[in-house]
Amino acid sequence: MNALAEAVGSFALTCRVSRKSRADFERWQAAALRRFLDRDLPRAPFYGKAPARLADLPVTDKALLMVRFDEFNIHGLAAAEAWAALARDGRAGSLTVGASTGTSGNRGLFVISEAEKYRWLGTILAKTAPDLLWRGMRVAVILPQNNGLYDSARKSRLIKLAFFDLTLGPEHWRAALETFDPTVIIAPPKILRHLAIEGFRLQPKRIFSAAETLDPVDRPVIEAFFRLPLDQIYMATEGLFAVTCRQGGLHLAEDSVFFEFEPAGEGLVTPLVTAFRRRMQIMARYRMNDLLRLSGQPCRCGSPLRCVDEIVGRMDDVFRLPSNGGPILITPDVLRNAVLKADRRIDDFRLVQIAPDWIELRLPPALADEAAAAAHQAVRVLLEARKADATVDLVRTSLSLETSRKLRRVECRLERAS
Ligand SMILES: [Zn+2]
Repeated sequence: MNALAEAVGSFALTCRVSRKSRADFERWQAAALRRFLDRDLPRAPFYGKAPARLADLPVTDKALLMVRFDEFNIHGLAAAEAWAALARDGRAGSLTVGASTGTSGNRGLFVISEAEKYRWLGTILAKTAPDLLWRGMRVAVILPQNNGLYDSARKSRLIKLAFFDLTLGPEHWRAALETFDPTVIIAPPKILRHLAIEGFRLQPKRIFSAAETLDPVDRPVIEAFFRLPLDQIYMATEGLFAVTCRQGGLHLAEDSVFFEFEPAGEGLVTPLVTAFRRRMQIMARYRMNDLLRLSGQPCRCGSPLRCVDEIVGRMDDVFRLPSNGGPILITPDVLRNAVLKADRRIDDFRLVQIAPDWIELRLPPALADEAAAAAHQAVRVLLEARKADATVDLVRTSLSLETSRKLRRVECRLERAS
């Protein structure tokens, strides 16, 4: 395999596709999807043969993929072998194994080939910073673990890439990060906010929020400090799903993923994804846990790829509350907006459902009492309007930077039967 050729080929394809009309793009995508269904998908034992149509395939999810891991990758790599590889150096022969962060038992595994790794790199460069590439680019990636994808970039001459382990904490690598002087920073929003609040000496040309839901409350703090618009990379264990363009549109990665959408209420959808450019581990009609608000408008940049107005949060964090007429659902964005709109001084909070009829609103002690009371009242008013029968407790506590888990300001901590 020629690594550079894979990366450059993917880079060029990504750029070329972004200039097609929507009609031309859909024709290109339909052909690419058909090729995947005929040639790649049947090689995974779970499928065995090509379907007449994508819609004939069953919907899959993380639980199914983890239980029958070996049937979804064409090398028949068993989950136990993949976990063992991950515990060593993430290599299983010529394959790279990675996993999502998360509570044990809930982590997602993935396996990709060398070629796929370089193709991924070419795609992400084409989408994030094609103009910076030729001027020498130093990319700092601050994520919970090195998931194997980033090693490919380290070797490249076009770009210097440094990885900073989020779990060690910012104090551990502050000096190294400042010395590296990145032109591009990719990090979860809570870390970008921490860099801003602590006044790290950094002058990036582009900043990307990744790995966690970007809460509107973090954006102004980050943008004011770096004096740059904050862009987003929406990626997960399952792949790369959306990237912000230079005009600020968050475009779905429809050039490598075919999206279907299931309505989730309140104008939100959850995606079913088919990654039609992946060949090692087959992912078809895979149900994501995320809640998206699709945009009705095409982007000014002219790309045929559809846009998402907002990644609202996770399906898991929808509150299901009792009411007289049966359980009601309230999505994380509605809950978040109720808190934030109550008082402009609120710029951080946690809203946690800790029992079927019990919610805790956590606010920092430094916040003025009237602001806290207003937020408390706003959440109660919202529940009342929805006729939800639940108690809301106000708890004043410090909301410190947690580096060992994903930040979710609105979080449901109930065990689900499903
Ligand atoms: Zn755009």
